[in-house]
Amino acid sequence: MSMRYESAPAARTARELRREVVGRLDRVLTAARRAEYYAGILPRDATGFDALALAPVTTQKAYSDAMMTAPERLKSGEEHGGVVLQTGGTSGEPKFSIYSGAEIREMIRSGVRMLSLMGVRKEHNVANCLAIGELYGGLITLEHELLELGARSLPFGPHVEPAFFLNAARRMRIDVLFANPLSFMHKLRKIHEVEPSFGFELLLYGGAGLSPVDADWLRTHMGVRRIASVIASVDALQFGFQCSHCTGNEHHTLDDFNHVEIVDDDGRPVEEGEEGRIVLTSLYRTLYPLVRYDIGDRGRFLDEACACGLPYRKIEFLGRGGEFLKLSSDATVWVHQLVKAFSDEGPSAMQIVLDRYKHNAHLVVRLEGAHLDEREIRRKILERLPVLGKSVERGSILVSVDVLAEGALLRSERTGKVPLVVDRRFKTGSEPSALREAGARPHAGEDGAAALEGAR
Ligand SMILES: [Zn+2]
Repeated sequence: MSMRYESAPAARTARELRREVVGRLDRVLTAARRAEYYAGILPRDATGFDALALAPVTTQKAYSDAMMTAPERLKSGEEHGGVVLQTGGTSGEPKFSIYSGAEIREMIRSGVRMLSLMGVRKEHNVANCLAIGELYGGLITLEHELLELGARSLPFGPHVEPAFFLNAARRMRIDVLFANPLSFMHKLRKIHEVEPSFGFELLLYGGAGLSPVDADWLRTHMGVRRIASVIASVDALQFGFQCSHCTGNEHHTLDDFNHVEIVDDDGRPVEEGEEGRIVLTSLYRTLYPLVRYDIGDRGRFLDEACACGLPYRKIEFLGRGGEFLKLSSDATVWVHQLVKAFSDEGPSAMQIVLDRYKHNAHLVVRLEGAHLDEREIRRKILERLPVLGKSVERGSILVSVDVLAEGALLRSERTGKVPLVVDRRFKTGSEPSALREAGARPHAGEDGAAALEGAR
């Protein structure tokens, strides 16, 4: 009988947790100094959090460039075995994430602990609908975790037909569904039409946000009692999860697996409660260490103890949107500001498309959700972002909102994700529909935590 995953119970107090984090941090920093890339940027005479504070932030681009041109510079030692995952495949060169066997075992151990904190029990039958294949980690990783946890898995994958799913899920009485809402919400609505009595207890999700409208629908129509999100990045894997007291975008940070910092655009930690970029230091990746890595998502720390009593800190996860859109010489907007302007409307999925308009941009916000009102959302955008409202009045840019049917935005075959920003202004030749355009240039990469499914 394997006892491999049964060591190291979750730390009980904040002090114990901190001690464990410092120990892990020193281990990964020692490994990182053996890699040429980090040897050049990590301070020699500091340890633990002091060393981290002196290290610069590594951007996705810097890391990706190093991985593409001289991957051995990122490596701390000899490699063999383990697992290779890939990200960034939609455009440009793919980037590989190479894990040792020991790192994968750490990941599974941490994942098992996280699943139980999110309410998965041995008695549960779990529908595993995460992505699989093409160097994707989701379904396979969850399989390992469920096996170790002792729950029963039904590995459906993300492409399962609603009728097939309904038949098996009903007969095998699933209690838990783990899926990316982007690839599954519209299937659940179809299933409900066919079989209104079908339901389950616990929804775990990642890969995209779940709108409050969809969450209410799941509670009302599928009897779902608990909904919990996992946030992860392809390079650092899981770094946050929701306990039963987390609401909205609140997540506990998985502090003994990834050290989370929130920093400003210059890489300096922001004040508690302030919004900024999420930067991760993996506390278990020693083969290809990841130190102060900017995952392209935003968040802010919440200064409050959680009613669940866990020692893990809490953040509000604000997702991607660390990208700046330049629509004309005087109309610029951060993606996260734009998304915030309409997020209270609760779209199930979204995409921002930039087309050419004169010398400037036509901003098209594409949203899925039967309840949405195009005119009302456009009004909110122009009112809440006066810089856009004024430019539209002057006629220098166009802003429109398209409301689409559930599932209409093109999902990546491989990942189930919808690229958040598609910039078609600089493309030449004919302009096929963004709904079916495979070659569109997605911004913000697939590395962001909203792109969590790559890890999970
Ligand atoms: Zn909690």
